[in-house]
Amino acid sequence: MIMSKETLAKSIREIPDFPIPGILFYDVTTLFKDPARLQELSDTLYEMYKDKGITKVVGIESRGFIMGPILATRLGAGFIPIRKPGKLPAETIEESYDKEYGKDTIQIHKDALNENDVVLLHDDLLATGGTMEAACKLVQKMNPKRIHVNFIIELKELHGKDLFNKDVDVQSVLSL
Ligand code: AMP
Repeated sequence: MIMSKETLAKSIREIPDFPIPGILFYDVTTLFKDPARLQELSDTLYEMYKDKGITKVVGIESRGFIMGPILATRLGAGFIPIRKPGKLPAETIEESYDKEYGKDTIQIHKDALNENDVVLLHDDLLATGGTMEAACKLVQKMNPKRIHVNFIIELKELHGKDLFNKDVDVQSVLSL
């Protein structure tokens, strides 16, 4: 069943001042713990991407590791992790970026993707867009056929979407 935006908004818990003062944190664990909501979110994401020919879902550590593999199995695609430094065991490439709270670096295995892949990059939330922009740069280095970018939630007022080229398809389930 497709999830309505109202149901999705109600399923997410808002925590003020986490992890630092001034940040309103959108906690998706309240949605994930509810079997009906989790199923609906999975169905909704599947409907959004079932006809796109996705061959690899790329999830960003750590909240992209929850719906990412669920979606990959539904789409008949593989799953690729993007991780924080020092976690991936084989040869990696990396990008550094500024976050809403602090600086960070992410890595992907150098041989994770190839030019025949149609990639769906997934994370739980788009804030400033720095994380996903860096993830996109990593994926682009492997020259996939096409890149789709997906979030459960997008924080519109931060204009993170503006960072992406027109050839990257960026969609979120809920805009707040
Ligand atoms: P950004 O790079 O600014 O778009 O930040 C996105 C990343 O930080 C995602 O991995 C989110 O999980 C996390 N994040 C940033 N801001 C928030 C927020 N207000 N609530 C929940 N997660 C957030």
